[in-house]
Amino acid sequence: MVGSIRLGKIFGIPILVHYTWFIVFALIALSLSTQYFPSRYPDWSHWMYWAMGIATGLLLFLSVLIHELAHSLLSTFQGIPVQRITLFLFGGVASISKESTTPLGEFLMALAGPVTSLIIAGGFGLLWLVSRFVLNIQILAAVSSYLGIINLSLALFNLIPGFPLDGGRLLRSFLWGVTGNYRKATEIAITAGRAVAFLFIVGGLAWALSGHWLDGIWLAFIGWFLDNAATQSYRQLVSKEALRGVKVRELMSQECPIIPASTTLNDLVYNYILPHSTRCFFVREGEKLKGMVTLHNLKLIPQAKWPSVTVAEISTPMEKLLKVKADDEALDALELMVENDVNQMPVVEGEEIVGLIRRDHLLQFIRTRLELGI
Ligand SMILES: [Zn+2]
Repeated sequence: MVGSIRLGKIFGIPILVHYTWFIVFALIALSLSTQYFPSRYPDWSHWMYWAMGIATGLLLFLSVLIHELAHSLLSTFQGIPVQRITLFLFGGVASISKESTTPLGEFLMALAGPVTSLIIAGGFGLLWLVSRFVLNIQILAAVSSYLGIINLSLALFNLIPGFPLDGGRLLRSFLWGVTGNYRKATEIAITAGRAVAFLFIVGGLAWALSGHWLDGIWLAFIGWFLDNAATQSYRQLVSKEALRGVKVRELMSQECPIIPASTTLNDLVYNYILPHSTRCFFVREGEKLKGMVTLHNLKLIPQAKWPSVTVAEISTPMEKLLKVKADDEALDALELMVENDVNQMPVVEGEEIVGLIRRDHLLQFIRTRLELGI
């Protein structure tokens, strides 16, 4: 996500915070310090409201982070790496490159988050009981009761059975396990997700009109976000189906010309790129392939230097390029390109480059298949 800062790593997983999360944090701390705590505990000092508001906001942040870490650990146990955890406007999200290969795997991964939130809620509940009735520390009781309720709500909200919420994933894994049909199960869970989103939007707007405008609009906004996420999940599902069983070999092109290392950028543009609308070239030095040049490399060099700079100077070295094997799944290749934000990758067979796979070509393949309904 653009606009995120990296806090560090936990269990090898980078933790990122998107700037929208700071807005939420500020709103939560503000409402706790100026409304929630003062209305319930009128005899605290002014700075105490703020200290507790900020501390509670940070603990909430930690609660969401632990929820996402629980999903991530269950994913890592199954051998599916987690790229990052990002906290943003609507909470947290663990970016996991692949989905579980078994219904049980997905079931456990989805369940881990809400169960963890329930355990945290229980822990704060216990802390509330002890601080309220045994230790008699009002501040501790105030913070723990709030966090207990929030974590309980977090668990319950995530258990709503609409994809891509955790509850929607549970529903899918259940249907998938029972019917053995991954596609049908996903479709039903996504439809449920869109129905939930619709209810949130309608309910939120009705609530807003009845006078609770801030809460109502917020609920409708969450509904809108869920609807987007469900729609996107559906597109991914369709792409996956379209590429299922297709190998890189079938979709790679062999039209990535090999040009000598001494070619200047001027030659490259006027003799190769413009006449043939080719966007990517392998650079050869002697008998050896040295690297690859794309429009992306070229655009980094000011036009005035094109006559004097050679392709060898701007090419990405072979060993630094992401590569795929001709027998790899096309879907894996597409995911790899999306993940690393590259538009093409050389295809290798043993030591040899046998072609090039392009992102836009794969997307075009998916679109054509959808258009023909095959
Ligand atoms: Zn979750």
